[in-house]
Amino acid sequence: MLEEVSALLASARPNPAHTGLGQLQQMGLLQAIITQNIDNLHQEGGASRVIEYHGNAKTLSCLRCNQRYNANEIEGQGPPKCDCGKILKPDVVFFGEPIPRKALQESYDLASDCGALLVLGTSGEVAPANTIPQTAKMAGATVIEINVESTVLTNYLTDIFLQGKASEVMTQLMEEVETMVAQR
Ligand SMILES: [Zn+2]
Repeated sequence: MLEEVSALLASARPNPAHTGLGQLQQMGLLQAIITQNIDNLHQEGGASRVIEYHGNAKTLSCLRCNQRYNANEIEGQGPPKCDCGKILKPDVVFFGEPIPRKALQESYDLASDCGALLVLGTSGEVAPANTIPQTAKMAGATVIEINVESTVLTNYLTDIFLQGKASEVMTQLMEEVETMVAQR
């Protein structure tokens, strides 16, 4: 099972939504990305500041000496081991484990002090990530939502609803942004 997941993760590539967000960050238009994904695709799509609620499956850590390894540098059979001999744990947050406190704190700090919040690829129903749009809204931010269907957020929180698939809407959005930046 874990091997199948690893194979799936290894073959996944960033889509236009990942690369678009990465570009926005490189342009200084997007401060940070808060995600529940563990696939590292935001980073592979060019993003530098990614706050991960559920960790990252591309790395493993030693719980004894804190040494971190990339999943692709682990070789051989059997459970992956650290140089110190201890078995390595994937850097993902498993069911029942708490979301890293640093990630929570950082995301709330950002949400309570942002001009706009872009919400995509989420139904807005999973706690505690679903409280971020609320925090941002209460702090006066414009909430922009990209989703195929309307969600619980759409009617009571969203200021601008861009209906469609994240990768398609982001492609259009990036064309607009590039035109605007070129005209500046
Ligand atoms: Zn170790």
